[in-house]
Amino acid sequence: MPIRYQVVVAGSGPVGSFVAASLANKGVETALLEKNGATLPICTGIIGVETEKLVPIPAETICSRINSVRMNVAFERELVYSNPGTMAYVVDRQSFDHSLLQKAIASGVHYLEGYRVKKLSFNPPNTVVITVKNEKEEEKIEANLLILATGFSPTLLKEAGLKGYPGTVEGVQTEVELSTDTSIIEVYFSNALVPKGFLWVVPISKNRARVGLVTPEKGMKILKEALNKDFLKERIKEREPAKIRMRLLPRGPIPETYGNGLLVVGEAAGQLKATTYGGIYYGLLCGECAVETALTALSLKRSTKNVLSIYQTQWENRIGEELREGARWRSLFESMSDEQMILAADIIGGDGIFNKVKSVVKFDWHKDLIGLGLSYLKRHGLSVVNRSISGRAS
Ligand SMILES: Cc1cc2nc3c(=O)[nH]c(=O)nc-3n(C[C@H](O)[C@H](O)[C@H](O)COP(=O)(O)OP(=O)(O)OC[C@H]3O[C@@H](n4cnc5c(N)ncnc54)[C@H](O)[C@@H]3O)c2cc1C
Repeated sequence: MPIRYQVVVAGSGPVGSFVAASLANKGVETALLEKNGATLPICTGIIGVETEKLVPIPAETICSRINSVRMNVAFERELVYSNPGTMAYVVDRQSFDHSLLQKAIASGVHYLEGYRVKKLSFNPPNTVVITVKNEKEEEKIEANLLILATGFSPTLLKEAGLKGYPGTVEGVQTEVELSTDTSIIEVYFSNALVPKGFLWVVPISKNRARVGLVTPEKGMKILKEALNKDFLKERIKEREPAKIRMRLLPRGPIPETYGNGLLVVGEAAGQLKATTYGGIYYGLLCGECAVETALTALSLKRSTKNVLSIYQTQWENRIGEELREGARWRSLFESMSDEQMILAADIIGGDGIFNKVKSVVKFDWHKDLIGLGLSYLKRHGLSVVNRSISGRAS
């Protein structure tokens, strides 16, 4: 007889642990399957303070507290956004993830480490049979619902009969000895430095920082070259920087995040910010929607595609417009030459407009800022036309 749960959550990243804990707290018999166990995720670990409304952020997981973002535009201009208080934390992902997993286990979640979800099949109206592989063998687990929170998972999505991501970018990162202000994130925009992307220097202590970038391709090579450029080389104390690590990130959400007996959430569903590719906070927000839908399906004793489709509506109501506006900004930004970026920085940074823009800045919500920014640029002749920018400032 296969083991049976009401809900199986696959993936013990922040989103999977959060979803599993939330379900168990509502009295749902929940299993959390993790293929790897404690590994160090490739992530900068920046989370806005709003995240604390959803999950606790234990003090011991926090490396630094951020109150300013310094944006360097093509090494010619600088825009600084500061907050009187902390706007974001930089966490140690391994201990942050561990704290959420411990919370899930304490809530009654049955945690199975070394279990990889491979396949699923659905028996209507509410049984999903999950084929899992552990160290020794393949086995079957039954549940009313499977929630995939497995991070970037093109193969698993295909196996589940779902369409894949609209594209990918490379996220690349290393840690270096570098003296820095622990309250400031530095971001560098320059097509010459990072084509169609950006580079960051994020403090984790006074003497150590995460340096990384996102770009469509050749990210490892681009980061290696950047570390040897004067603006970084002169600051890096450690001559041999630590290993550079890369992984792919979805460039947007998959078209359908549900199927028969199945919900997909977090990075697995492509629920990342379109502007920064931050995935933790939006994943948790969508996780709340997945929990709500799961509870409805359990109460109806039906986990058919039809019933589960409400999840898509719910999460799109929460972050859909953010993702669309973010993609609009991204298509303008990615088409800009360095000269055009400088021009844009002058328009936004000049004559007090940046101060006005600042009033709508929220660390995790960019739609209003994008709307205002794009309207200023358009007024000055810079706008999105056929995915390229046209015109010049008057
Ligand atoms: C360089 C870089 C920097 C980033 N910086 C930030 C940042 O500063 N802030 C931010 O918010 N986001 C950042 N992100 C994105 C962020 O790391 C992810 O979006 C986030 O980890 C998503 O969480 P998740 O729980 O959805 O998935 P994950 O954290 O990826 O967890 C998925 C889990 O599922 C497990 N798994 C996978 N397949 C299976 C399977 N078949 N069966 C069982 N288990 C499985 C994995 O082992 C993993 O433990 C960054 C990404 C990169 C690449």
